[in-house]
Amino acid sequence: MSHNLFSTFAERMQARGDADFITTREGRGYTYAEALAASARLGGALVALGVKPGDRVAVQVDKSPEAILLYLACLRVGGVYLPLNTGYTGEEIRYFLGDAEPALFVCRPTNIEGARSIAAESGCPAVETLGTAGDGSLMEAAERATPYDDIEPRDANDLAAILYTSGTTGRSKGAMLTHRNLGSNAATLAEAWHFTESDRLIHALPIFHTHGLFVACNVTLTVGSSLLFLPKFDVDVILEELPRGTVMMGVPTFYTRLVQDARLTAEVTANMRLFVSGSAPLTAETHQAFEQRTGHAILERYGMTETNMNISNPYDGQRIAGTVGKPLPGVEIRITDRETHTPVPNGEIGMLEIRGPNVFIGYWRMPEKTREELLEDGFFVTGDLGMVDERGYVHIVGRDKDLVISGGYNVYPKEVEQVIDELDGVMESAVIGLPHPDFGEGVTAVVVPRAQSRLDESTVLASLSGRLAKYKQPKRVFFVDQLPRNTMGKVQKNQLRQQYQDTYR
Ligand code: ATP
Ligand code: MG
Repeated sequence: MSHNLFSTFAERMQARGDADFITTREGRGYTYAEALAASARLGGALVALGVKPGDRVAVQVDKSPEAILLYLACLRVGGVYLPLNTGYTGEEIRYFLGDAEPALFVCRPTNIEGARSIAAESGCPAVETLGTAGDGSLMEAAERATPYDDIEPRDANDLAAILYTSGTTGRSKGAMLTHRNLGSNAATLAEAWHFTESDRLIHALPIFHTHGLFVACNVTLTVGSSLLFLPKFDVDVILEELPRGTVMMGVPTFYTRLVQDARLTAEVTANMRLFVSGSAPLTAETHQAFEQRTGHAILERYGMTETNMNISNPYDGQRIAGTVGKPLPGVEIRITDRETHTPVPNGEIGMLEIRGPNVFIGYWRMPEKTREELLEDGFFVTGDLGMVDERGYVHIVGRDKDLVISGGYNVYPKEVEQVIDELDGVMESAVIGLPHPDFGEGVTAVVVPRAQSRLDESTVLASLSGRLAKYKQPKRVFFVDQLPRNTMGKVQKNQLRQQYQDTYR
């Protein structure tokens, strides 16, 4: 029996026929029947271009419905889909093509010259283009190709995709994801979040990360609901579309921006049934503000490139601000000692480890890293520190790499940030550890003040002195206009550490 994820999708696509699969504001789009046919034509083009089962297809294109059809075509012919961040420069693409050795590289029409020379240097035999208006040489090849109407049989453990991590803590790693990984998670999420055919998902995320690609699109294809594809997050557009949507998936910055807009009301969100947040921590303040304004409690969940989604607040039941909820069905978690991997007592902070059918099979061409993070008993060491409270809800405390060890004491940045964020005049903050001659690391706060606030370093330090144990108190406070964030809204603490590295030296 074939375990190709596309077989599951194709069955739904067939059944949904003339129903909308994907639409844009410009009125372009595909019904399920059209998408199914297009996936066969694009599949035919891939085969004609030399893509064989197991071959990687690297893709760096702007967001469009056709990019999703390409993903489907790739699955269909047994290829391994490898999307790349649209922000990567030629130099970075050179690294990824060299690392992944794809059989085909699909780029934006405007990048064709550079892409050809990089591909030639990296030994990638074919380059095609895909634009955002249904244009590009790949679409032309699909028109000429003999449609690939079959579905290539795949084993559950065969690769469906290689997805590079966001690179928040270092160089991005290629996570090898199988048909089982993606299929099991899509089915779990569709059920956990009560997706049905009549859902219309407002999609404003990029499609080169797990959130916008697998969570949003695979769930949609699993149930046969529809996607409204927006090129990017734009508050005006979102507010216009909310009355026609039922679900939105976003990163926390979507929600912080929405709550700053007076047009966000219960009326405008009346047709919506679910708002999901993930990829970075949603503050309790934003969660509460959003609920006050709309009556909707944002559902926060926790996942990562390597595992898809692991933990989620409940659909029915209490969605607790500041927590990511409970493990999804089929996902096991444990909180362990950072060094020994033995479980710590309930309620204590430790390394969050995950096991389940959703967990990847390793990092592409990084056997050592894979051995370090994928333990023999099947648990994956996430690199995130967490705690399970008495209700069984998981709290993500921060990344292990961001933990500050000052004078031998562990300082969890989130705890300090929460206290700083409550001070008058503070918009947000990031707490980091910097090399310190006496303490090993010195706790340091980088603060974004609210407009017109007159905060200064000594006021912040004085306000914290009664609220935090001495070893947790920052030794220095710096003020900035905004924190450095990547496309998924993740604070780039390594950039901050670099910027302020000589503070105590
Ligand atoms: P890299 O692994 O390359 O450093 P990355 O970990 O940011 O980058 P992703 O796989 O895109 O790459 O992101 C997963 C991480 O995002 C998780 O490990 C976690 O730190 C963070 N994350 C995701 N959802 C949440 C959430 N709801 N709350 C807090 N953190 C979250
Ligand atoms: Mg990571």
